[in-house]
Amino acid sequence: MDRNEAVLRELNLYPQWVRRDVPAPVAASQEAQAPRHVVLPEPAQAVIEASKPLSPIPSPINVRGELSSLDWPQLKAMVRDCTACKLRAGCTQTVFGVGDEQAEWLFVGEGPGADEDAQGEPFVGQAGNLLDNMLLAIKLRRGKNVYIANVVKCRPPNNRAPAADEIATCLPYLQRQIELIKPKLIVALGKTASTALLGKDVPLGSLRGKLHDYNGIPLIVTYHPAYLLRSPMEKAKAWQDLCLAVNTMAG
Ligand code: URA
Repeated sequence: MDRNEAVLRELNLYPQWVRRDVPAPVAASQEAQAPRHVVLPEPAQAVIEASKPLSPIPSPINVRGELSSLDWPQLKAMVRDCTACKLRAGCTQTVFGVGDEQAEWLFVGEGPGADEDAQGEPFVGQAGNLLDNMLLAIKLRRGKNVYIANVVKCRPPNNRAPAADEIATCLPYLQRQIELIKPKLIVALGKTASTALLGKDVPLGSLRGKLHDYNGIPLIVTYHPAYLLRSPMEKAKAWQDLCLAVNTMAG
């Protein structure tokens, strides 16, 4: 089994799915077994949905004012020293984000867990391993044209979801990261990221399969890798979302 097959097996996507526009060669032995090839939706059917990027909760940090002139080192220092919400008191360190600071691809998760809190890097635990495999499945690698960040930079206690006021306090940092990166596409991983970036609290399923708009940047919503670890059957839908992302990038 080659590396690609191993990745697709990990994603529960083997035998490999094909995009409608790129028919893959099928080996004679596989043909006889009627492989589970799935035809994915055409990207042209994607609907661009505009929505407000800001959380409905007013933020104590004014991103347009205080943060809007910060460069990377200044922003990193500000996040490192931030004590604006109660999360900082309970975490080991802030987890800023990682990757290519001029990446075309931006993946946004919820917030650090125990592994990320210990290592200071997003998505380094089991969910991170799956995220790395999802990236590999679309020929991407952490750090190469990819940036990974979270909505909140401090680990919420007991792995609970961040509270609305914590998200509102921390969101301007992510907004400034996006301004600096200028990605061509944002992939929101899970409900916290999609709610924070799109400013609307609706079921994640209703946001999938469409192109949304974040300040002029296309945004795609998919399941959080930690959810996919608990619900592996949903990996097939995540693969559809990744194909929409690839097709969107291909223009
Ligand atoms: N889950 C997230 O949302 N982010 C991480 O960095 C790790 C797990």
